[in-house]
Amino acid sequence: MNAGLARALERFLLPNACLVCERLVEQHRPDALICGVCSARLRPIVPGCRRCGQPLPPVGPCRFCAGWPENLSLARSAVWLDDAARTIIHRLKYDGWHGLGTELGGIVARHVPRPARAYLVPVPLSQRRLRDRGYNQATVLARGIAAVWQYPVAERLLHRVRETQTQTALTPEERADNVAGAFEAAPRSAGGRAIILIDDVLTTGATLCAAACALAAAGWLTIGAVTLARALPYDIRVAGGTSRTPHDNSDRG
Ligand SMILES: [Zn+2]
Ligand SMILES: [Zn+2]
Repeated sequence: MNAGLARALERFLLPNACLVCERLVEQHRPDALICGVCSARLRPIVPGCRRCGQPLPPVGPCRFCAGWPENLSLARSAVWLDDAARTIIHRLKYDGWHGLGTELGGIVARHVPRPARAYLVPVPLSQRRLRDRGYNQATVLARGIAAVWQYPVAERLLHRVRETQTQTALTPEERADNVAGAFEAAPRSAGGRAIILIDDVLTTGATLCAAACALAAAGWLTIGAVTLARALPYDIRVAGGTSRTPHDNSDRG
């Protein structure tokens, strides 16, 4: 029995333990996977930059998103990637908690205003990673968001055309090089909608930029992105510097 299945079985037999702190979830929320205390500890992001959503209102061009391609017009994340959010994403990525998608979709919808009607497009994993993991956590998240926003999920619109190395130890510049040209998109359908890319974590935005470029090249027009969490500024490795402890959050970017 694999670890994910074992935990799913344990979950079935011992329901109501919070996925973050493992304490019992409040009895009045029998279906909740995250307890009220841990939910309340998640830190929502109040956007300062109207484009990338980083918290400081930029004076002049925003340093975070000035280098993004024009076609990525909006990015929003629900919460900061602190320890609690990191634990949740770890569960989503490695423990096979599909049921978590519903709960996380709810968290996103609570903190990110619903954008104009769009296809929700999960950022695809490479074939190898998809095989290893068995599912794409971004798809699980997208389905959870779609259930609240009532927008369609378009899973096959975007795919990875080559393997990329894990982004964890890379500088922002290396991240951009690593994912450049990694995606290919299906041509825009007649009357095709705008697109919102969905991913678990936004770090530098390199992955979202590469995906947005592929979609724009295929004729898609309005492209935004929504992620569950956003890396804390001091967790993003800068050129010549060292990262803090390596985290598992960044096989994307
Ligand atoms: Zn908890
Ligand atoms: Zn910005």
